[in-house]
Amino acid sequence: NTQTLKILITGGCGFIGSALIRHIISLTSHQVINLDKLTYAANPLSLSSVQDNKRYHFIQGDICDDKLVNSVFEQYQPNVVMHLAAESHVDRSIAGPADFIHTNIVGTFNLLEASRHFVNQLPSHQAKGFRFHHVSTDEVFGDLPQTGFFNEQSAYSPSSPYSASKASSDHLVKAWHRTYGLPTLISYCSNNYGPFQHPEKLIPLTITRAIKGQHIPIYGDGQQIRDWLHVQDHVEALLTVLTQGQIGEAYAIGANNEQTNLHLVQSICKHLSILMPEHHLARNNGFESLIRHVKDRPGHDQRYAIDASKLMSELNWTPKYTFETGLNQTVQWYLANSK
Ligand code: NAD
Repeated sequence: NTQTLKILITGGCGFIGSALIRHIISLTSHQVINLDKLTYAANPLSLSSVQDNKRYHFIQGDICDDKLVNSVFEQYQPNVVMHLAAESHVDRSIAGPADFIHTNIVGTFNLLEASRHFVNQLPSHQAKGFRFHHVSTDEVFGDLPQTGFFNEQSAYSPSSPYSASKASSDHLVKAWHRTYGLPTLISYCSNNYGPFQHPEKLIPLTITRAIKGQHIPIYGDGQQIRDWLHVQDHVEALLTVLTQGQIGEAYAIGANNEQTNLHLVQSICKHLSILMPEHHLARNNGFESLIRHVKDRPGHDQRYAIDASKLMSELNWTPKYTFETGLNQTVQWYLANSK
């Protein structure tokens, strides 16, 4: 598909959005309009390589601001929306859920309404090409026992205020497709890792604390299982879904990299010892000696695992990173980029 698109991306200064924008600007001819509120989670430096590009436009603003969102549609006339803006950290959602309700639910509602009104006034040949791609998470399905996988048919059963707000936004997207015929796509992705992730998330938290010799906290026994995907593989999957996905369909994205949190943290410690052989911890007890088990997160999901066979067989997406190469690259990136 060689059509040049004008893509409105929300939350483009976040971890995944910025990787998506760097990829689109450097490897495609599409234009990007990035609408981001610049919350604590945003990192504008992650976009320094694209900020002067003529195909990149940045608007600082809140997706809950309906006047602003409508004016962005009028001014830029996007062909597609990729909606990533969200409050994304589970622990923060437990400490204070209000922002999650506003941004994830009301913000998504606002974007859907703005898209619907915008599409309704387009000539039919242009309206036909419009897509609203909602970027969701496997966390909307709650958790799994030791066996089985999530797929596009899994029942919604969110556990945290974060995942409940994401589930709510998925339902709104499905309703806007069914009731108003808005051309929507949904993707459910597993846990992402890679460069530029906020240091509050498990992998960067572990790396940045370990290199400073600080304790590495692990919730409970650390036996919770997460299914990890490199952010670059997610970005390529998102563009595959956007350009080749069937309207009204959903796609689960993952690469079969299940790890217990404890094993993951231990692997990071091993990478650090190899990459920093002169560090006093590498020479003595090892970075593993920094691990401390702390009180478990309330409502903590036990296991996530994705079956991405629909995306792989229908749209021919395959991940490029193994967990070993991706984690090694990520640890090296944080060593080079953390203060
Ligand atoms: P992030 O927290 O790193 O970034 C979120 C971005 O959204 C930030 O730049 C922030 O400023 C912006 N934002 C927040 N509220 C906003 C508002 N009201 N208006 C405009 N912008 C606002 O998040 P991320 O990890 O990049 O995740 C992006 C999306 O992908 C989210 O929707 C998340 O639910 C989903 N997702 C994330 C993961 C993951 O592992 N990180 C996995 C699956 C799905």
